[in-house]
Amino acid sequence: MTFQEIGLNADLLKAVTELGFESPTPIQQQTIPLLSAQKTDLVALAQTGTGKTAAFGLPMLSLINCDDKNTQALILAPTRELCVQITNDIKNYSKYLKGFSCTAIYGGARIDGQIKEIKRGVQVIVATPGRLIDMIERRVISLKTVKFVILDEADEMLNMGFKDDLDIILKETPADKNTWLFSATMPREVDRIAKNYMTNPKEITTGKKNEGADNLEHIYYLVQGRDRYLALKRIADYYPEIFGIVFCRTKAETQEVADGLIKDGYSADALHGDLSQSQRDFVMKRFRSRSLQMLVATDVAARGIDVNDVTHVINYNLPEDVENYTHRTGRTARAGKSGIAIAIITPKDTSKIKDIERILKKQFVKKDVPNGLDVCEKQLFNLVHKLHNVEVKDVEIESFLPAIYEELKDLSKEELIKRFISEEFNRFHEYYQNAPDLNIVKGSVDGAFGNGRTTRFFVNMGQMDGFNINSLKDFMSDTAKLHPRMVFNVDVKSSFSFFETESKFVDNFMGINSQDVEFNGRKISLEVSNRKMKDGGGERKSYSGGGERKSYGGSGGGYKGGERKSYGSGGGGYKGGEKREGGFKRPRTGDGGSSSEKSGFSREKSFGGSRDKDKSAGGEKKKSFGKSKF
Ligand code: AMP
Repeated sequence: MTFQEIGLNADLLKAVTELGFESPTPIQQQTIPLLSAQKTDLVALAQTGTGKTAAFGLPMLSLINCDDKNTQALILAPTRELCVQITNDIKNYSKYLKGFSCTAIYGGARIDGQIKEIKRGVQVIVATPGRLIDMIERRVISLKTVKFVILDEADEMLNMGFKDDLDIILKETPADKNTWLFSATMPREVDRIAKNYMTNPKEITTGKKNEGADNLEHIYYLVQGRDRYLALKRIADYYPEIFGIVFCRTKAETQEVADGLIKDGYSADALHGDLSQSQRDFVMKRFRSRSLQMLVATDVAARGIDVNDVTHVINYNLPEDVENYTHRTGRTARAGKSGIAIAIITPKDTSKIKDIERILKKQFVKKDVPNGLDVCEKQLFNLVHKLHNVEVKDVEIESFLPAIYEELKDLSKEELIKRFISEEFNRFHEYYQNAPDLNIVKGSVDGAFGNGRTTRFFVNMGQMDGFNINSLKDFMSDTAKLHPRMVFNVDVKSSFSFFETESKFVDNFMGINSQDVEFNGRKISLEVSNRKMKDGGGERKSYSGGGERKSYGGSGGGYKGGERKSYGSGGGGYKGGEKREGGFKRPRTGDGGSSSEKSGFSREKSFGGSRDKDKSAGGEKKKSFGKSKF
């Protein structure tokens, strides 16, 4: 079926053809002929991504009288982002309609500019409920001439508490207008609106309720709750070209995850309701322009957002209900493209996966969180691919080449390739070589540590040396050149401590004894403890050194991460506050890249694929707003 066959007029046809729409989507096939031809109310159950904006936008435009400057249609949407998006879509569809104008009215932006637009006369207003009421109260907007009211994402508007606002607005509109309601779900409240404000509405459902796209793959990773963030970073590292949305449950969690990612050098930012409108605009602008690879968002903030070619939707936490899962994952696999929906779950979430599978009638694939080697391999080939495709600036580089060729003339092609690749590979290999397995393995001590065989150590350092659980964990892992997660079940006593590690790392720790490592001038000594954790402090009562150690207390030499002057392990010194949570630390724009950099060339575009060209990534993001065109 073509747009022509369903009766789209020539001006609109020309515009949609230019937009690359070849044929109407299923919902458009139903709405366009129906709404263009007869006056009717409508309730349409449709997800975003089904082409629903055009499904109401095109018939609405075909019914607008462009010679009449009065407001003829009102579109209500829950968020400013959606408002702006709908307005842009309507502007695109109406490109060839002479005398037509449409404007967006939403809170958080200056009202005077919006008032000016309205006063110029617009046939279509796209609005969020709160700002619209404000404009009605100021008598800037009158809805008395409105012929169509379109409620987009009606369920979400009600979820967001706009119920009373909708009642107020709908009462302001003429009784003989037509109301078209679009909703992804049909809760009782939406039904109530349909009953109270519509007359014999036609009902349209496209696809089954909650049915996800076919070209969408659903994957889950099972981890311990505390490993959620590490798993997210692993996933991001495993997909270097990711362009995705990470959904969190709360605003605080969203900000926390985004801050973590930014700090760890990823191209990410947060989108949630606690940000100002200009901050949200700024983030969205960067995401749309692909200056950001990962948008960390709440359900509400990202609802209805249409960004092309999102490759992954990551459920950092599963949503409370299945409907929200469909909303989230509807951000990817749009317009026939494929996409991947990922859920990072803990054992208690497994029943939820079953619920989603049952309702979606789709199976999840359980995948293992990529291990260090998997990530290295993926990143390595991504690097090779980039090298292959890199743009060579022949003219600019030409004058340097003779000296470079001279310097490298002894090396064969194979040697050269090996060295170029190693320049990056060594860095991430070093970072990932001891990365812990994040998958939950049956029979492990607490489910997170490899095969479950662990060894408990005694070390002659404790609270008197200024250690607490975390600092001892950092110190021991650093000294043993292991990931901090390899030191667990730490028990810090006043003058000595215990910790556990996987048995395969026993030599790493025992090796410390022979290295004469000192802390505050005292040699560190480790022993394998023969009791298990449950026995707690009782396990080493025979240790005689405890009493001798009073002199360390209050010496000011407590372990503070960076202050490791006396620590002389001869390599791999502790780097103070640097977080080593697994996943290599990505080079961040403007931070000069890794400290091991030898060449002086910026590593900004190096391995890891950060495409963040925006210098304000990282901590400065909140300082430079206000330039958004929205
Ligand atoms: P929506 O459900 O309105 O958010 O639309 C989802 C995406 O599909 C948007 O990027 C639209 O531009 C696109 N789209 C809408 N209708 C069509 C169509 N008939 N053919 C191709 N793409 C479409």
